[in-house]
Amino acid sequence: VNAERPVRGTTLAMRTTGSIGEMQALSMAARRAGRRIGLVPTMGYLHAGHAALMREARARCDLLVVSLFVNPTQFGPGEDFARYPRDLDRDSRVCEAEHVDVLFCPEAADMYAPGSSVWVEETALSAELCGRYRPGHFRGVTTVVAKLFHIVGPDVATFGQKDAQQAQVIRRMVRDLNFPIEVVICPTVREADGLAMSSRNAYLSDAERRRAASLYRSLCRAQELYAAGIRSAATIVAAVRDVIGDGTLPVDIEYVEVVACSTLKPVEDIREPALLALAVRVGKTRLIDNAVLGA
Ligand code: AMP
Repeated sequence: VNAERPVRGTTLAMRTTGSIGEMQALSMAARRAGRRIGLVPTMGYLHAGHAALMREARARCDLLVVSLFVNPTQFGPGEDFARYPRDLDRDSRVCEAEHVDVLFCPEAADMYAPGSSVWVEETALSAELCGRYRPGHFRGVTTVVAKLFHIVGPDVATFGQKDAQQAQVIRRMVRDLNFPIEVVICPTVREADGLAMSSRNAYLSDAERRRAASLYRSLCRAQELYAAGIRSAATIVAAVRDVIGDGTLPVDIEYVEVVACSTLKPVEDIREPALLALAVRVGKTRLIDNAVLGA
């Protein structure tokens, strides 16, 4: 069906499949027909950030595949796997509106055979930032993305800068394991008050939602300080913590760090573009955000 479609982004019916075999067949047919395949990996509960990744990929491929899989192996014990928001009907409509050709939504039992014992693990970048607080998380991410890359065989895949560490880890995996895939990292899409869009924002109460806007305000403050010539990471981190901490509803700052963009190792003095990354718990909800200083 869609595999033979010669024209980019025309609106034929989207194919939805949970079958790994069918997905592989569609991809193989497309590749044989000389069509470029694009992949947008997601965990669903789609928002405008995901839609932006789809649009970017759509412009770069002939067959656009969106995967929707809440990947159990990237959640730690006590994390939100069971309650992660899911709504396939709504997600299908978002994908259709973005002219997606194939919505691939496999079951966990098919993705992970009983007794699965092979992992893909990146060992340097994954140890920093979120890696310290979510042991095993990036191993789950690299494993599932490697599997999706093998199943779909994309020429191009898009990821969001919102998950900056994840994007760098994927880039490293693609380099080190020689995946013939172009990785495109797209800017963070934000709500009107600056809060980075995230499926997890759905967890926030009204009061928490208002409180969560301080994350973006803190990034803006950091940019102001950087623009004013401040290069000390400690000074910037302290200011960011002040902005986030300023509110009646208490929040729990997991980390605020300035790190080198290439290694994700902490820097003291910012001499080249650096990543300011943070993770904050607002109520029970863990939010992350980041900005590049000196971009
Ligand atoms: P998720 O469904 O949260 O696993 O995210 C799937 C992809 O969407 C990842 O590459 C994320 O980095 C990206 N993404 C999530 N939120 C945003 C956002 N607000 N702006 C841009 N990309 C995003």
